[in-house]
Amino acid sequence: MKNRKLLMIPGPIEFEPEVLRAMGEQTTSHVAPNFIKSFGKSLSLVQDIWKAPNGQAFIVAGSGTLAMEMAVANIIDVGENALVINTGYFGDRYKDILETFGAQVTMLEAPFGETIALESIEKELKTKKYKLLTMTHVDTSTGVLTDPKPIADLCNRYKVLSVLDGVCSVAGEYIHQEEWKLDIVLTGSQKAIGVPPGLALLVASQKAIQAWMDKKFNGRNYYSSWKEWLPIMQAYAEGNPSYFATPAVNLIRALEVSLNQINKEGVDVRIERQHVLARAFKKALESIHLKWVPKNDKITAHTLSAIYYPEGLDIPKFHKKMKESGVIIAGGLHPRYAATYFRVGHMGAITASDLFATLGALEQALHHGNHTFNLGLALKTFQNELK
Ligand SMILES: *Cc1c(COP(=O)(O)O)cnc(C)c1O
Repeated sequence: MKNRKLLMIPGPIEFEPEVLRAMGEQTTSHVAPNFIKSFGKSLSLVQDIWKAPNGQAFIVAGSGTLAMEMAVANIIDVGENALVINTGYFGDRYKDILETFGAQVTMLEAPFGETIALESIEKELKTKKYKLLTMTHVDTSTGVLTDPKPIADLCNRYKVLSVLDGVCSVAGEYIHQEEWKLDIVLTGSQKAIGVPPGLALLVASQKAIQAWMDKKFNGRNYYSSWKEWLPIMQAYAEGNPSYFATPAVNLIRALEVSLNQINKEGVDVRIERQHVLARAFKKALESIHLKWVPKNDKITAHTLSAIYYPEGLDIPKFHKKMKESGVIIAGGLHPRYAATYFRVGHMGAITASDLFATLGALEQALHHGNHTFNLGLALKTFQNELK
């Protein structure tokens, strides 16, 4: 396709043609039998992909931020304590959301490119009674991957509800919600789930639903309230029409198509395939002396790369050349360090050939920006890694 752009940012991403075609189908009524079926099927596929057969799925029109809000607004009461594990920009956002709903927030903030040690989290949990803890699986501003399982274990030991912001990880990093005893896992449609922007998705454990029922003070949220949405989700899951606020009919059809694709391939097979590509991509750019923001491989996300500009690079020239190449990448996002690095998204429908195109464009742009390296070496390393 002439003038086609390759969208290599950490969301929205490149989407499968079948998903985009589903978006273009004629819009049906939100209570039409075929739509009820799509909605019900999507809810059940969400539970499969989250690995939460006993969880309660919610699919609501909105972005990932609405899912973040819905996850905590229904649980936290005014004056209750919340602990935010901060590995970048989206931790700051969780603090803001929680404070909006009257929570007393304590934030453990990792240095740029690092995670918080488990001992520090446990030490904090001992100091007072926390209602909930939030963590970001992959912080999209730093590319830092947090291991949610040991943190969820701590939460269970200290009787704290755990909320995982999986906006940049669900279907791109391994998640076993029930086995790991995570209370809420949330995402937005436009990242590794592979659907254009506009849907907030989450699965709540029965424990989280119980905490909402036990909550004394209700009524600070309206559109994100489970009081409104829970009966709707239950109705659609049972094949019955229902209405609170109009669902995003076309997006939900597209979601059904994408979740079916993921399920058909097998979510873990898909994740592993993306991880192989992500690791090879990292090796390729390391071979031409680029450095990653996350301090080591264990905490490096596979859904995106956050890469420091090499020393001496003419950054405007680099970005100008990237733009000309038609490969769209993202700049830095962390409030303090944004000018020192750039980001490449590689999740969802990503293929090796997309990464070949991206690496080729990056090599040219780096060369153009006066970074000294052996032209072609990154591409060659990538070939060898995938062999
Ligand atoms: C993108 C993102 C969000 C916000 O999602 P929106 O759809 O932009 O509202 C939240 N958390 C993480 C980790 C993200 O990557």
